[in-house]
Amino acid sequence: MIIALDGPAGAGKSTIALQVAASLGFQLIDTGAIYRTVALKCKEGSFDLHDGQTCADIARDLDFSFEIQGDINQVFCNGEPVGDEIRTSEISLAASTVSAHQEVRAALLELQRTLGSAKDSVLEGRDIGTVVFPGAELKIFLTASAEERAERRVKQLAEKGIDESYDKVLQEIKERDHKDMTRDIAPLVAAPDAVTVDTTGRSIEDIVAQIVNLAPVQ
Ligand code: C5P
Repeated sequence: MIIALDGPAGAGKSTIALQVAASLGFQLIDTGAIYRTVALKCKEGSFDLHDGQTCADIARDLDFSFEIQGDINQVFCNGEPVGDEIRTSEISLAASTVSAHQEVRAALLELQRTLGSAKDSVLEGRDIGTVVFPGAELKIFLTASAEERAERRVKQLAEKGIDESYDKVLQEIKERDHKDMTRDIAPLVAAPDAVTVDTTGRSIEDIVAQIVNLAPVQ
């Protein structure tokens, strides 16, 4: 079974996806972490982020797996754990650039499908319900106001010891939303059959319960 959880940055996807996956005993495929890791590898190798073919070549060499460990979803790339270095603002923007290339998306499409087909999965991302798994049993599109998303992101980063100002994060969120929603390939948009859930002002527990209730499991 596939549960697709899409939505913009900071809508609460990661936290909600983790709790939904843990409560159903599903694996959680964090597709944003995949794009972020590709961006990190490109940066580390000083490759041009605007060169789609080169970024796609890097992407094709990477293999991913995920494991829920307590309250984190550990990402492994080529067998090695990936840390919080993929969560900085610099890598957020780089991931957005890298993910806009058709070649990169094509390279990662099969990878995501293979990962998701192996086990019952929750996939969180931007185009899971529209492109990666259009036949997903449940599709959720999570939204929240840009201001609330920025507040949450600042708090989340602070918990990881990363200090960013609210104004900077808000501006980056708006920039990324714009990039993600207006790109030609796989733009961020709710699938026609997705259930849209606005998380503004709602508790995580409440939203997780709503999604778990919608999951067609016995
Ligand atoms: O979800 P997260 O913020 O970690 O994603 C980082 C970036 O990766 C997004 O801003 C988006 O550009 C890209 N992404 C994507 N498609 C996905 C997941 C993430 O284009 N399925």
